[in-house]
Amino acid sequence: MLKVENLNVYYGGIHALRGINIEVEEGQIVSIIGSNGAGKSTLLNSISGIVKPQKGVISYKGKEIPRAPHRIVELGICQVPEGRLVFANLTVKDNLIMGAYLRNDKKRIEEDLEKIYQLFPRLEERKNQMAGTLSGGEQQMLAMGRGLMGDPDLILLDEPSLGLAPLLVKTIFEIIEDIKKMNKTILLVEQNAYKALSIADKAYVLEQGTIKKEGAAKEILQDKSILEAYLGKA
Ligand code: ATP
Repeated sequence: MLKVENLNVYYGGIHALRGINIEVEEGQIVSIIGSNGAGKSTLLNSISGIVKPQKGVISYKGKEIPRAPHRIVELGICQVPEGRLVFANLTVKDNLIMGAYLRNDKKRIEEDLEKIYQLFPRLEERKNQMAGTLSGGEQQMLAMGRGLMGDPDLILLDEPSLGLAPLLVKTIFEIIEDIKKMNKTILLVEQNAYKALSIADKAYVLEQGTIKKEGAAKEILQDKSILEAYLGKA
């Protein structure tokens, strides 16, 4: 469904991605794990068109993707960014409706809103609250819910568990598995390697801009060197 070939990104003199190759198959959860500064966000931002790679090809459903972010959204690719970035001065409900801005199928938008409330009951409880006053975990749920309201096929999730309390981390990962069951494909970037590997079909280990390891997530979870490097604190 998504194929990234020989992707190279430079920020001035910094070579942030050095010939990355990844593949995501439809219906899967694919996790990218790696430490701070490995290039995880750069990879997602390249796919969503926010960062312009100097070299490489990104194709989606067999075609090279356009470089403009709004056209990438139109293709059915949605990024839920690190740091959530909800509209602080809009209510929860209005944030969710904003997520459907490219759609005009009113009835299905209403139905999807109900589905989002089922997935995140907390958002329904808070639907009239200003998004800026939500807790960090609730904002993460809202950012994910807003992304889903665009009815994407492929969701790019950047560090959804960042800064959340352990119980909430568990909830967020359960919800990611529920999203997969809604026939969505998920590319997940995480520092919480244990959780990210536990729910994924396939995984890549990114280190200093290169893929150090790839394979079935279950196998990577058994790999001693990976366990020592990334799962020490899990
Ligand atoms: P983290 O987990 O800390 O978010 P990451 O794996 O997502 O890290 P990136 O944010 O992709 O890593 O950063 C990769 C490298 O590129 C880092 O060395 C970072 O400092 C650098 N970098 C990222 N964005 C920029 C930018 N806009 N300008 C210059 N350098 C950048």
